[in-house]
Amino acid sequence: MTIALITLGGTIAMGGVDAGRPGVVARLTGADLTAAVPGLAELGVPVDVRDPHAVPSANLTGRLLLDVVGQASQAVADGATGVVITQGTDTLEETAFLADLLWPHAAPLVFTGAMRNPTLAGADGPANLLAALRVAAAPHARDLGVLVAVNDELHAARWLRKTHSTSTATFASPNTGPLGQVIEGEVRVLTRPPRHEPLPPVDPDRLDATRVALYVVTMDDDGLLLNGLADTHHAVVVAGFGVGHVPSALAPVLGDLAERIPVVLTSRSGAGSVLRHTYGAVGSETDLQRRGLLNGGLLDPYKARVLLRLLLAGDAGRDEVTAALARHG
Ligand code: ASP
Repeated sequence: MTIALITLGGTIAMGGVDAGRPGVVARLTGADLTAAVPGLAELGVPVDVRDPHAVPSANLTGRLLLDVVGQASQAVADGATGVVITQGTDTLEETAFLADLLWPHAAPLVFTGAMRNPTLAGADGPANLLAALRVAAAPHARDLGVLVAVNDELHAARWLRKTHSTSTATFASPNTGPLGQVIEGEVRVLTRPPRHEPLPPVDPDRLDATRVALYVVTMDDDGLLLNGLADTHHAVVVAGFGVGHVPSALAPVLGDLAERIPVVLTSRSGAGSVLRHTYGAVGSETDLQRRGLLNGGLLDPYKARVLLRLLLAGDAGRDEVTAALARHG
């Protein structure tokens, strides 16, 4: 039994400084990270470390993630029981979801990170890394898709949200709650979500070239910023009010856009679904769907954008996009 550990930087690895500049930067390798974990030896599982990137997670890209998911896949093909990826928490809800959409294996792929860097009292990196390694080694964590282990909780990547900018309890799954917990070092899986078929492999050049905008609707919004968007972008995700509403003045602007590119309706609320057939005013969910917007269901705006990019990079047409939104949303 071996666990592969792939490190990508982030606060969990930010134990160094750059000369002449204030603030911590990513410096720690996977060997440093594992050396800082008390109790790792008792796990009794060799950890095979790779350190492909050491960046703030704001610098992670779809292309880089495709490469990392490929490395994780290869590790499983070579016999790893599970894979752990460490990275910054800022983009983790997007990267883990991207990986989840593509991960074809039963073996666990577990993301983790930290909110307090290793120079601070109460740094949470070592505990999170140990929890993630335990999950990656747990036979009952197989077949759950991509997971996130933080704060002694186990979350499905597909439901995860970062909900607080500094709290160590930042990660939550508002629509479902966590899948499980790590209790006295034991991984307890409390609920098992059904898995989806993975999407077909995506070409990194195509993904790079696929532009999907995210547009957050605000009060008094006249849609001026959307001018010309269909000339520069392949699709747009709209984060509407509540159950999927926009000011009435914005409805025709979105309708015109939907005649040219896919426009996906989601909620900016942070949890819950957009509705399909409850409200009837201009700018309501029924009106926007009549104008050609696609319903994103329970997908939050960030995840809808990740899904759309992968689908469009794979040449999906409107019917395939609609079907995928129904499956994942
Ligand atoms: N800014 C950091 C990053 O995402 C925050 C973190 O790691 O939690 O890289």
